[in-house]
Amino acid sequence: MDAATTLKNHDLRVTKIRLAILEALGDGHQAKPYGELQAALGEFDRTTLYRTLLALIDKGLIHKALEENGESYYALCGGCTTHAHTHDHIHFKCNDCGTVECLHLSSEIGFTLPGVAIDSLEITAKGTCSACSA
Ligand SMILES: [Zn+2]
Ligand SMILES: [Zn+2]
Ligand SMILES: [Zn+2]
Repeated sequence: MDAATTLKNHDLRVTKIRLAILEALGDGHQAKPYGELQAALGEFDRTTLYRTLLALIDKGLIHKALEENGESYYALCGGCTTHAHTHDHIHFKCNDCGTVECLHLSSEIGFTLPGVAIDSLEITAKGTCSACSA
């Protein structure tokens, strides 16, 4: 599905900056740090860029994968809707190259904690990515 269709499916008008952000995020497996997005989208105003990211999160198109050392990493969503984000994947950060990836699991991560109801679960794993360990 192309970026313009994705935007329309999430009740968003197709604008240049929205398309540019979706394109900059690529195929959705790798999260991009805010600084890298800002550099790639330098033609747009910083405030507009930040607001657009928040709007895309709100509409279920992208999510914040990780926040670390003052840097936020954003990635495309798969099956999220304008009403809710439903993720069942782990965020993996490579200690060598710093890449942050969305790793989808073949089975759901299910566990319970005593006395509380879990609505969402965020898991960040760190180690060596496949490219660095090769
Ligand atoms: Zn999502
Ligand atoms: Zn790596
Ligand atoms: Zn993710």
